[in-house]
Amino acid sequence: MINACEQLIRKEILLSKRTTIKTGGPANYFAQVSNPEELQEILVWARTKKLDIFRLGNGSNIVVSDAGLPGVTILYKAKKPQYSMDTNIITVHSGTSWPSIARKTAKEGYRGLEMGYGIPGLIGGSICMNAGIPDGNISDCLISVKVANTRTGNIFKMAKNEMDFGFRHSLFLEDPELIILEAVFKLYRDQNRSVVTDMEDRMKQRLKKQPYSEPSAGCMFRRTDQILPGKLIEESGCKGLRIGGAEVSIKHSNFIINLGNATSNDVWLLLQEVRKRVHDKYGVELTNEVQFIGEFT
Ligand SMILES: Cc1cc2nc3c(=O)[nH]c(=O)nc-3n(C[C@H](O)[C@H](O)[C@H](O)COP(=O)(O)OP(=O)(O)OC[C@H]3O[C@@H](n4cnc5c(N)ncnc54)[C@H](O)[C@@H]3O)c2cc1C
Repeated sequence: MINACEQLIRKEILLSKRTTIKTGGPANYFAQVSNPEELQEILVWARTKKLDIFRLGNGSNIVVSDAGLPGVTILYKAKKPQYSMDTNIITVHSGTSWPSIARKTAKEGYRGLEMGYGIPGLIGGSICMNAGIPDGNISDCLISVKVANTRTGNIFKMAKNEMDFGFRHSLFLEDPELIILEAVFKLYRDQNRSVVTDMEDRMKQRLKKQPYSEPSAGCMFRRTDQILPGKLIEESGCKGLRIGGAEVSIKHSNFIINLGNATSNDVWLLLQEVRKRVHDKYGVELTNEVQFIGEFT
């Protein structure tokens, strides 16, 4: 008889179908779970088999190796947007899409999470990345999270000040043993401006400036107050540069897009080439924003 845990586990699931750049090989084992009980079953099973664990969100900030991933890839995802609201405090299942929560809260006149409307991540992956826009990051309105430790199985709460947030950085990037299950945010009502209008205006800007409908993993390199990667990449003559099926976007030079037949290795090689050309011209070392997962040589 197949037990409940085994029903959740699948073999050789192509991660190119689970990443927004649409490249990457298979996950050796893949489990999509939607609640702490199912997660615990997978964790116990993975521990007995001594498998490494990779936490997958919506795959919008990662490039997975063409060789795929060993161990088990766990996607903690809500079956539908899952949240509860008590006046301005919202508790959200980490596997809920950020844009869906952005839309819902903005429509009710709340500000705080509306910036995520154009950021195609789940809440958990977005907290891990401390994703955001120049006006703010997801951590700004975060109060606490509930997490599971994949090694011990313990589930506990963490307050924002324990999460080491920085620009596109959090403790969860450093500690891959922690899976975020739930997050609590404090929003505020904006009496002066329409949150929905702001949100839609930002989206219009995004559609104008970014290759939003092409497969990509968002910005490849981090911007800082001093370094604007898009400008340096463009001035280094990399706009439109191609390796295999990967191209430096003509619309926004900090994006690499998949023209349809790119491999993750094409993306990796193109990123190295861009980095080298920028370094040769400006002596600036660009830092990756996108994460390369698995083996790249
Ligand atoms: C068109 C486009 C536009 C984008 N625009 C922006 C932007 O404006 N600003 C911005 O910041 N980013 C942007 N991104 C990048 C990306 O959408 C964000 O980083 C997003 O928040 C990542 O969330 P995800 O669920 O896709 O995470 P994934 O890419 O799946 O994973 C990212 C990291 O989070 C970890 N992770 C996933 N789930 C969990 C969990 N439950 N608990 C703990 N760790 C977890 C993963 O292991 C990985 O380390 C853009 C991407 C695209 C494709």
